Amino acid sequence: LLGLSEPDDIFAGVEAGADTFDCVNPSRIGRNGGLYGRYGRFNLTRSEFKRDFAAPVADCSCYTCQNYSIAYLHHLFKAKEMLGFTLATIHNEYFTVQLVRGIRQSIIEGDYPEYKQRVLGDFYGGQPLRSHWG
Ligand SMILES: [Zn+2]
Repeated sequence: LLGLSEPDDIFAGVEAGADTFDCVNPSRIGRNGGLYGRYGRFNLTRSEFKRDFAAPVADCSCYTCQNYSIAYLHHLFKAKEMLGFTLATIHNEYFTVQLVRGIRQSIIEGDYPEYKQRVLGDFYGGQPLRSHWG
């Protein structure tokens, strides 16, 4: 399935039989400062992140979140440093792969409907940002 990458789109694709996905969107969103988190997407260029030295997304195991603060990413974007685009893309690609892994595991374990409801409820439910999948 080409060209779709938002969480609800991936669930719809899986339900339509897709098992392979390819989309530039996680990278494009990252290059514009957008990061995916458990509770939705947020922009790391917001001023509240200027002095926030925590990981960009709590509990995320990606290279970016394990090695850099959101304040550093915020700085990189404000300074228009290319590394910021790369680090944001790494996180968003990791997030997307983890989402698909979770879907696959829920199918294997027979709790896909519950997984889908929880993930989409969290992502689109307007909860606090910056947490990864629980
Ligand atoms: Zn991350």
